[in-house]
This record gives sequence, C-alpha cells and structure tokens, in this order.
Amino acid sequence: MIKTQVCVLGAGPSGVTASIYLKRGNIDFVLIDHGPLGGKAGLTAEIDNYPPFKSISGPDFAFKLFEMLEHNNIEVKYEDIISVEKDGSDFKVVTSLEEYSCKAVYFSLGTTDLRLNLPRENELYHRGISSCAVCDGNLFRGQTMAIVGGGNSALEEALYLSSITNKVYLIHRRNEFRGNAQYVDMVKNNDKIEILTPYIIKSLHGDSSLEGLTLLNVETNEEKYLEVKALFEYVGAKPNTECIKFDDVKDDKGYIIVNIDMSTKVKGFFAGGDVTNKKLRQIAVAIGDGANASDSIISYLRDLR
Ligand SMILES: Cc1cc2nc3c(=O)[nH]c(=O)nc-3n(C[C@H](O)[C@H](O)[C@H](O)COP(=O)(O)OP(=O)(O)OC[C@H]3O[C@@H](n4cnc5c(N)ncnc54)[C@H](O)[C@@H]3O)c2cc1C
Repeated sequence: MIKTQVCVLGAGPSGVTASIYLKRGNIDFVLIDHGPLGGKAGLTAEIDNYPPFKSISGPDFAFKLFEMLEHNNIEVKYEDIISVEKDGSDFKVVTSLEEYSCKAVYFSLGTTDLRLNLPRENELYHRGISSCAVCDGNLFRGQTMAIVGGGNSALEEALYLSSITNKVYLIHRRNEFRGNAQYVDMVKNNDKIEILTPYIIKSLHGDSSLEGLTLLNVETNEEKYLEVKALFEYVGAKPNTECIKFDDVKDDKGYIIVNIDMSTKVKGFFAGGDVTNKKLRQIAVAIGDGANASDSIISYLRDLR
C-alpha cells in the first residue's frame, strides 16, 4: 500500500490543473489515469472557446496539458482506477496495479459516452461506428458519413467532418438542437451538411463494416435509407462514478454533488469537472474546478494537522 496525502484521479483538464496547484503547494500526491492523457478534450477536432487559444486542435491541447505536467515534474501513474473506498477518515484507492492510502481525493474521472444500443452496434463498432470523429473520421475521408446527436459535440464534429468530406448527414431526434446558436447557424449554412430531423436510427446495415442506416421519422413514421460508410455517435454521456464505494456523494444520475469549494458530503472527498452535477461541461469549467478544489484540499489538509 502506497501512502500519500492526496490521490488525484483523472488527468483530463481538471485533474491536471489540480495537480499543478497541489505541486506548487508542496503537497505530496499521486496523479492516476489509464490514458490517453488530456481526457475528452483530446478527442475533439477544434477547441475555439478556451482562452487564450483562438483555435487549437484537441490533440494539440492534450499535448500541452502533458507538457505542463512534465514542466512541473509531475509523474502520471498509468493505471486503471477500480475502486475508491473509505478507510476510517482516510481513503483507499485500488487500481489495476496498486493500492493507495490517502487523506483526500480529487475525483475528476469525467464521463463515458453513451451508445445507441441498437442491434449489431457492438459488432460494427470500430468498423464504421465510432464516438470520436477526430480519431476515426480520417479513415473515411472523402466518403459519406453521418453524425447522430443534438448537442455541441455533435454540431462541432459535423463541422469537422465537413472539412474532410463532401457529404455529412446530421441526424437528431428533435427538431431543435441543444447546442449553442453559433454552431447551429454554422451547421445550417454549411452546404456539405444535410440535417435530418426529427429522425432516429432504426437499424444498422453492413456485413464486415457499416454500409447504411435505416432512419425513422418520429413524427410521420416515414422510413429512409442512407448509404454511409461511417456513423459518429454523440448521444450523451454517463459519469464515471461506479468505482465510488460509499454513499452520499452522487445524484440520481450518478453525477457527484459538490459544494461551491468542490467538497462533497464526505469529508476529504473533493470532485470537479464533467463528473459533477453541473449545467455546463466544458474545459474552462473543468479547469476552474481543478484550481478551486486544490485550494480547498490544501486548506483541508492544513486543518487536519
Ligand atoms: C467531441 C467533444 C468536443 C468537445 N469540444 C469542446 C470544446 O470545443 N470546448 C470545450 O470547452 N469543451 C469541449 N468538450 C468538453 C471537454 O472535453 C470536457 O468538458 C473536458 O474534457 C472535461 O474535463 P475533465 O477533466 O472533467 O474530464 P475528462 O476530460 O473526461 O478527463 C477524465 C480523465 O479520467 C480518465 N479516466 C476515466 N476513468 C478512468 C479510470 N477508471 N481509471 C483511470 N483513468 C480514468 C480518462 O482517461 C480521462 O483522462 C468537448 C467534448 C467532446 C466529447
């Protein structure tokens, strides 16, 4: 069992920020992530709302986070976090390789993308179906692709795909998009993107890889067949909180309920970023949470003495 003052769980924007502040506060901590570093931010094509970058690609942003860790001599433990348990007033974190005992936890494991749960989806996953346009879009460069979803991620990634091919279908089950107005306008004014609403995907076609989709119009019940080589799913996410083995910190959807200082009902357990019950899940918020939490953790440890 490795003893440390703080376990920082997750090296996305939030966990990296918390780690930098803890390091500068001379706190003994470990930062654990199963990789890839940079979290979800690394999976987007273009980030153009995080100052001071006018625009930066997701992979470049993730690399800059990694450089910040190196610059601050912060080592990452590349391990899978399996459970986080209470151990008296301390915490026990069990990973695929080690057990850690710590006085405080910063929990920033983010979210996992939801899937459509259609027949044959698992079979065709990575054979035309993906949750990451920036990772896999290039494999289908120049071919017809589809995106399903109605939030910012779906809109942004549809715009990205339109830069590498001439035909992108954007499928959404409602007539209105949830994403911000600027992206909605950009998508509507892009002649490479065809918006299909209110449609759901009824079935997936293809033998060894995706070849087409049958859509169902939820208002008229009309069916439509689309020939596509790739489908990117952006249909929501669930918080990565199953590994937490104590009560009182989650809401009914599994997101962690935090106070204004990022503390929770459980003393010593702090959380931030996408995994918490907030309205806006974005890099600026995740980074702010990490800074805020580390300051609270430093005060918490001081009060324990
Ligand atoms: C397609 C897409 C486009 C986006 N575009 C933008 C944008 O333009 N601007 C913007 O501000 N935001 C954007 N976002 C949102 C942004 O990426 C997130 O808000 C941000 O990454 C949240 O940071 P986080 O640190 O809370 O969590 P995450 O970035 O999700 O990081 C969580 C970390 O925890 C690790 N982890 C999870 N489970 C385990 C485990 N069991 N064991 C070990 N490690 C684990 C993961 O590897 C990951 O590194 C986008 C998101 C997506 C999906």
